[in-house]
Amino acid sequence: MTKLPYERPTIRKLTAGPLSKFGPRAGARPVAELEGVPVPELLARFGSPLFVLSERQLRRSYQAVMRAFGTRYPQVQLAWSYKTNYLNAVCRVFHQEGAWAEVVSGLELEKALGNGVPGAQILFNGPGKTRADLARAAEVDAVIHLDNADELHRLLEVAAGRPHRPRVALRVNLDAGIFPQWDRFGFNLENGQAWQALQQVAAATEQLDLVGLHCHLGTYILQPAAYGVAATKLAALALRCQQELSLPVRYLDLGGGFPSQNTLKGSYLPGPDAVPDLDDYAAAIAEALLGAGFRVGELPLLVLEAGRALVDEAGYLLGTVLATKRLADGRRATVLDFGVNLLFTAYWYDHHISPVRTFSEQTEPTVLYGPLCMNIDVVRESIVLPLLAAGDQVVVHRVGAYNMSQWQQFITLRPHVVLLDLQGNPHIIREAETLEYLQQPERVPAHLQG
Ligand SMILES: *Cc1c(COP(=O)(O)O)cnc(C)c1O
Repeated sequence: MTKLPYERPTIRKLTAGPLSKFGPRAGARPVAELEGVPVPELLARFGSPLFVLSERQLRRSYQAVMRAFGTRYPQVQLAWSYKTNYLNAVCRVFHQEGAWAEVVSGLELEKALGNGVPGAQILFNGPGKTRADLARAAEVDAVIHLDNADELHRLLEVAAGRPHRPRVALRVNLDAGIFPQWDRFGFNLENGQAWQALQQVAAATEQLDLVGLHCHLGTYILQPAAYGVAATKLAALALRCQQELSLPVRYLDLGGGFPSQNTLKGSYLPGPDAVPDLDDYAAAIAEALLGAGFRVGELPLLVLEAGRALVDEAGYLLGTVLATKRLADGRRATVLDFGVNLLFTAYWYDHHISPVRTFSEQTEPTVLYGPLCMNIDVVRESIVLPLLAAGDQVVVHRVGAYNMSQWQQFITLRPHVVLLDLQGNPHIIREAETLEYLQQPERVPAHLQG
């Protein structure tokens, strides 16, 4: 018989914790391995903390989105949202699966080209495109998703000296019943801006080639019906373009914004119970487009720019407990070796966090802190966990979206990122940062040297 690890007994005040209709919160179940690879082995080999991505799950999520939409609508194309996670290995998995690239800056455009994506399969969004960005996009034949009238005028100047017409789509924002409405990106539909811009594009068909209409409602949208409204409005605009301006629109891009199964802070139900099925989104969009009045054989291509729905589930952050303590009010506190510098999404989500080894049934609510000397460094305000001790390891789930692009080099360096391939072999896809890397662009003036 193996000896059970000793756990210090504690006396604690009983507080009536939130009781949901599923009963009292169950203690977190341990997660000892990822894709068959023991977590302690990964941490021993690559250090703690450590980001891990599952190639299997990346592909599974991609195929799930394609299946949901592709079984309901004849022509579907995904464009991978680069800013959600632009590590090249991740992008290349999606490109291998068939994804185009959706980029929002000159930097991301170059990354997509570097990953071998043909210019014609790059959709360039964003409100901040410079003249140089527009010229580069035109040069490689990327589709420029126009955001505002100033950009349209800038592009007309850029286009004047070019042998080929740059391809453009119009970004439209509209009222789909979502609050707050994202009306800062693109041209508004209801106030006539979008139509006015389309008339300008129609007047410049010698210089510009209109290929699509685009609408990205927001992010983590929990109402599938909103996509139905957006698709209906966008389709009507496309038909009007064709009829009144003789501008046929080849694709309708409904953007991203589909939620992952993370739990939003303040949500009563956990993410997996609160988030609608992808099928509901696909049904709403497909129904709207199929019923919009396009002639048979003239249905536009449906483009989707999914970000978090493709990558969140595949990402894990592994870490180690540095210390535990009691706060002044008696609450248990646990200090981890990663904080909001690496887990940016801790500001929005109550991330699911599992212990790695097996514990007794005893649990206690604890606040999880990161290692930063900053009051804002809170990973979870309150989570029911077994009595973790210094040296214990934890797994944070669903961290693939935005953390590996919005992370900050602040106080500590960023750790290794490892991809587990389909056989479970780990590959470093981003090296841990070093002091040398961090200081490489720094310069010390002569009078401060020596
Ligand atoms: C960020 C972004 C996306 C991806 O959004 P998700 O909510 O992660 O799906 C798609 N399109 C545009 C234009 C974006 O800015």
